[in-house]
Amino acid sequence: MPNTKFLLAEDRIPTTWYNVIPDLPGGLPPMLHPGTKEPITEADLEPLFPAELIAQEFSTDREVDIPGAVIDIYRQWRPAPLIRARRLEQALDTPARIYFKYEGVSPAGSHKPNTAVPQAYYNKRAGVERLITETGAGQWGSSLALACSYFGLACEVYMVKVSYQQKPYRRGLMETFGASVTASPSELTAAGRAALAADPDSTGSLGLAISEAVEVAAASGGSAKYALGSVLNHVLMHQTIIGQEALLQMELADDYPDIVIGAAGGGSNFGGLALPFLREQLGGGRSVRAIAVEPSSCPTMTKGGYEYDFGDTAGLTPLTKMHTLGHDFVPPGIHAGGLRYHGMAPIISALKEADLLEARAVPQTACFEAGVTFARNEGIVPAPESTHAVRAAIDEALKAKEEGAERSILFTLSGHGHFDMQAYIDYFAGKLQD
Ligand SMILES: *Cc1c(COP(=O)(O)O)cnc(C)c1O
Repeated sequence: MPNTKFLLAEDRIPTTWYNVIPDLPGGLPPMLHPGTKEPITEADLEPLFPAELIAQEFSTDREVDIPGAVIDIYRQWRPAPLIRARRLEQALDTPARIYFKYEGVSPAGSHKPNTAVPQAYYNKRAGVERLITETGAGQWGSSLALACSYFGLACEVYMVKVSYQQKPYRRGLMETFGASVTASPSELTAAGRAALAADPDSTGSLGLAISEAVEVAAASGGSAKYALGSVLNHVLMHQTIIGQEALLQMELADDYPDIVIGAAGGGSNFGGLALPFLREQLGGGRSVRAIAVEPSSCPTMTKGGYEYDFGDTAGLTPLTKMHTLGHDFVPPGIHAGGLRYHGMAPIISALKEADLLEARAVPQTACFEAGVTFARNEGIVPAPESTHAVRAAIDEALKAKEEGAERSILFTLSGHGHFDMQAYIDYFAGKLQD
C-alpha cells in the first residue's frame, strides 16, 4: 500500500529559515515612520523589538540560521506531518491528489509557535523581562504564552473582546502557560480608553488590541517588548520552516504540488508554505499556483487597496505598504478570529502585485461546510481559519474532476479546531452569517 503520512526524522528539521526578500521582483517598499513619514531605521524599532529580530526584519540574506536552542524546542512537535487526504479524495471522487501539511500538532494547536519560540528566544537573549502582545482568536496569545514559559519570560496578552467572550478555553490555555490576559479594548491604555469612550459596547478588533499592546511595550522603558504573530517579514521568515519541510516531504511522496493553498489572516502560514515553493519557481524550477484564501467579510487582498497604512487602529505602528481595508476597519465577528485583520503582510501584498499569487475570498458558511466534510473523512476538525484553505482545496479538487485533470494540491491545515467547537455548534444551528 502506498503511504498516507509522509514523515521526516528529527534530524531533517531545516537548520535555516528562508528570507524571500532578496528574491522579490522589485524588492519591498520601505516601512515609513508614523511621525516623519521617512523610511524607518533599525533604531526606530528598538522600543518594540530586540536587535536580532530587527536585523532579521531588514535582512537581505537569503538564509538565516535557526539557533540550536530553537531547533531543540521545535523537536517537540516538528517535523510536522504531511498527510495525503486519501479518504477526502475518494469522497470527492476527484482525480486530484490532495495533501495537507498539518500544523495542529504543535502544543498550541497551530503554526504560530514556529515564530513565537524564536521571538521569545531573541528577547530573552536581549535581557527583556516581559513580552506584550495582542491576540484575536487566542491562537497567537497561547503560542506566545507557551514560548514565554519555555524561556522564563512574563507574558501579557490583550485579547479582542469578542474572542475573549467566545473562547474562554483559549484564555484558560494562555493562563495555564502562565500569561495574563486582558479583554481589549481595556481601561489600561489610552488607546483602549479612547475606543471605549467612542463605543462602550465595542467588541474590539485586532488593530485596536495591537495599539494597546504597542502602547504598553513602548512605555516600559525597555523591560518589556512587543511581539507580533504575523504580517512582519521576520515572522513570515520563521514560518518558512513549514514549506521547507513540505518540499522534502513531497519528495518522499514522489510528487510535486501544482497548487499550494493557505488561509491568509496576516499571511504567515500561507507564506510559510508558499514561499519555499515560490523560491523554486523564481530560481527556474517548477512553477506553482499559490492561492491565498481570505474571508469574504474581511477581504483585504480581493477588495483592499495597495497603499501605505498603519498596522494598528491608533496609528502607533510604522506605515507599511500593503493590501488594507483601512486601519479603522472593524470586521464582523466571524469565528475565524485569526483572519479578522485589516491588513496583509507586505511580502504577500508585493507578491500579489507581482502576480505571483492568487487571492480568493470565501464566505464563512461555505468554509464550515468544507471543514465538516474534511473532519468526517480525515478525522481532524480544522480551526475555523483553516477551513478557508480546506474550502479552496476542495473547490480546486472538484474543478480538477470537472476538467478530468490529475492535479496535485497541497494546503496548510494551519490548526485544529478543538477550542472552537462552539463555532461548529453555531454552524449546525444555522446561526452563522457570511
Ligand atoms: C492565526 C491563524 C491563521 C491566520 O494567520 P496567518 O498569519 O495568516 O497565518 C490561520 N490559521 C490559524 C489556525 C491561525 O491560528
